[in-house]
Formats: sequence, C-alpha cells, structure tokens
Amino acid sequence: LEPLYSFMVRVRLPGGVCTARQWLALDAQARATANGQLRMTTRQTFQFHGVLKHNLAKHIQGIAAAGLDTIAACGDDNRNVICTANPLFSRAHAEATATARKLSEHLMPRTAAYRELLLQQPASSGLPENEEPLYGPTYLPRKFKIAIAVPPSNDVDIYAHDLGFVAIVENGEIVGYNVLVGGGMGMTHKVPTTFPRLSTLAGFCNAEEIVEVAEHTMCIQRDFGDRLDRAHARFKYTIEDRGIEWFKAELARRRGKPLEPARAFGFTTNGDRYGWHRGEDGRWHCTVFIRNGRIADSAEAPLMSTLRQIASELPVVFALTTNRNVTLAGVEDADRSRIDALLLAGGLAGLSSPAGLEQNAMACVALPTCGLAMAESERYLPSLLHKLEALVEAAGLADTPITIRMSGCPNGCSRPFLAEIGLVGKAPGKYNLYLGGSPRGERLNSLCRENIGEQQILDALRPLLNAYASERAGGEAFGDFLIRTGALSRAS
Ligand code: SF4
Repeated sequence: LEPLYSFMVRVRLPGGVCTARQWLALDAQARATANGQLRMTTRQTFQFHGVLKHNLAKHIQGIAAAGLDTIAACGDDNRNVICTANPLFSRAHAEATATARKLSEHLMPRTAAYRELLLQQPASSGLPENEEPLYGPTYLPRKFKIAIAVPPSNDVDIYAHDLGFVAIVENGEIVGYNVLVGGGMGMTHKVPTTFPRLSTLAGFCNAEEIVEVAEHTMCIQRDFGDRLDRAHARFKYTIEDRGIEWFKAELARRRGKPLEPARAFGFTTNGDRYGWHRGEDGRWHCTVFIRNGRIADSAEAPLMSTLRQIASELPVVFALTTNRNVTLAGVEDADRSRIDALLLAGGLAGLSSPAGLEQNAMACVALPTCGLAMAESERYLPSLLHKLEALVEAAGLADTPITIRMSGCPNGCSRPFLAEIGLVGKAPGKYNLYLGGSPRGERLNSLCRENIGEQQILDALRPLLNAYASERAGGEAFGDFLIRTGALSRAS
C-alpha cells in the first residue's frame, strides 16, 4: 500500500491577474481536487494544498483548461513575475502588468516534460527534447525572483527581489525602468554568512529594453551564482561578493552598452489601499482584505462563496496583490451597489476597510502545511494581533498603521525583514523580534530580541509603543520613530 502522498500546487499568474471565468475555474478545482480552499501567496498567485497524488494530473489539467499553468512556479528558475496590482487602474499599470506577463513568458522553461507528463499532451515545443535555450541542462543555482513596481506604490516590496524594475512614468506612460539587483529575504538562524539584503540600484533602461536586461541579468546569475553551497546560491550573494560595479560592467558587456543613470522615484507605502477607488478611465476598483490570503468559507463569513458569487454574476477582473488581498477591478458605476450588497450579505462589508493592526499584517503559511516551519505563523498571528491591539489602544494609537509580519522560519516568505515589527519563528512558541523597518519597504529592520515567547514580545513592545505615542513627530511612522530617536538601539 502506497503512502497517501499530498502535494502543494502553485499557479503561474504573472501580475496576479485572473478573469472571473478563471476565478470560478480555480475555485471549482480547489473544491474538486484539493482541500477546498484557495491560498493567495506573497508572489501574487494561488497555491493549492492537499492535492493527493492520484488527483495531481487531473488538478493541473483543470488549471490548464482555464488557460493557466504551473510552470516554474517553484524550482531553480524564474518564478512568478509580480507587479504593482491592478492592470485596470491606469495605462501605466496596464503596461507594467503586460510587461510582467512578457517577462514571465520569455523566461519560462521550454521543457516538454510538463506537457507530456502532467497534461498528457504530445511534446509541442518544437525544440529538440530537453533543450533549454536559457537554462541549459542545469537551470539556475537557485530560484530567481522578478518584481515590477509602479510608484508611488511599493506594494511588491521592490527591494526584496533578485531583480526589480521601477516604472518611470511620464504623462501617464512608462518611458522606462530603473533596474535594481540583488535583493532577497531568506537567511539561516545563527549563520552570519546568510542574510536578508536590499537590492541595489544599478541604472535605467528604456521600456523596450526590459526583456533583454532581464534575460542577461538572469543569465549572469546562471553563470556566476554559487553552485557549490546552496545557502549561498541566491543572486544577492553574487552581487554582495562581486559588487554592483562588477555587475554593471558584466551586463554592459553582454548587452553591448551600459545602463543609463537611474531616474528619480519615490514610494509612499508598501501596503494596499482598501475599499473603492476610481481608476484613470472612470471605472471602480474595490480592494478587499483577505486574512493571510486564505480564501475559505468559515463560521465567521462565507468568503469563498461570496467571491464565487461575485465572479459568477459580474464581469470583474480579480487582481491579486502581493500583500495577498484581492482587488475587484474594472467595475462600472451601475455594478458597484451589487458588489456592496453581495459583500454585505456575505458578512464581508468590513473587509473593504479593515481596522487596526490587521490592515498591515501578514503571516506566511507555516504549520501545518509548510515542512520548513519552526513555529506557527498564519494560525497564530491573529491571536497575537488581538493582544497587541490592546497595547496599541492603551497607548492611544488605535488605527495607527504599523506593519507587522510573521514567518514560521527565516526563509521569510512574508518578507518579515522589511516590516516595522517582524517576528521570525525559531522554535515552537518562540520568535526572533526584528524592529525598525519602514512602511515604504525601503529599509531592513534589525534583530532586537532572540528566541522569545508571547509575553516577552508584548513586554518588549509595550514601552516602545508608549514612547512612540507620546514622542512621535507629526505623522511619523513607528519604524521611522525607532530609528530617529535611537529607541531601537536602546531596546536591543
Ligand atoms: Fe516560508 Fe518558512 Fe513560512 Fe514555510 S515557514 S512559508 S518556508 S517563511
């Protein structure tokens, strides 16, 4: 008798966009061949849990029937390309999302094995069997992650990825992109040669050069990344070890010309704007809060059923955000009230304007489904937030936005090292506490306390929140306050 093997399946969804028809197909697939839930990820896509081995091919064929695939959503290759959410918000957002799709397709492995084994189709790539023009026989040293940001939003956390492009917009059109290289979150506890790193600004390229720049950059990592030590194999270590000037020269050599000097840009937030907003063409977009990206029906609210109802009634586009919320995009004036009514009937009206710390909180999956988890994350964060809310309210800070992110291990899937308050799992019930990130996602936080439990977390944060409440300058953010006043170094 074979063990009951169960798989996690992740969709490739560049830019996080799916149509109402695709949403319905994924919803149906979750209920037919997975655990009945949809889980959104910080790479702006869906993952399914609990796909049993005998259902695996059927599950992936169902995804393919919706016009989607799972190619390179995992593995040592270019992962799902993420982009500032909602292509329908403006012409620049549409162009950035189209570019994310173009990059994803250009850098996709060509293997015919996927179609042969999982889709049970004949090989159709037209290439000799197993030929990979970009990846070669050995693929990349590690995974490779690309993001595109459209300022002033830094919802994608542009500094956290191997390769980042910041759109430079003039008169509503993208004229080109600033290029950032060598970001990444993962580290290993107690191994100082591993660390999170912010990407480094390398220069600017014109809009039509972005695919070429991305391909050369990925191939530089293919050729120079460390293939001996997997813990040192991400692109951030290649950049850290060899330096940004080396990278710029190598890229210029391969392209035949250097990048131009970087253009000015700025971010205002790395969070999402909840509720209704009107886009450039007059249509409406409603961002709905999804706790930790998990779409399921619960005793509290029939979230999955309500979103299914919206998808079946209205021609909205579902735009996933990298903070794992969903924007119901492209809504005509006449349809707004119907969406409001459906959200209200489903008990979800409050989710379009969540209150308190939860609006900027994020936890990774961790236990019980992630095999790397050292501590709880998704299942624990809501209860910790409840206790932190009491501290925040007692300090007079109710509804003050503070970014809180938790991960069950130092891989950092929820990007905890950028949060104003970051908690990284160390052991069951124990976390490392990091403080001092920026609400714009442009600064790493610092390790403040190690291996502490809930009461110690609350005890460490209480005096800092009280000081912030009484001494902050104007609209100063918590992380900025900790840095400006030196409170962080005194607390460490
Ligand atoms: Fe990622 Fe670690 Fe969380 Fe697993 S436990 S989801 S690997 S951060």
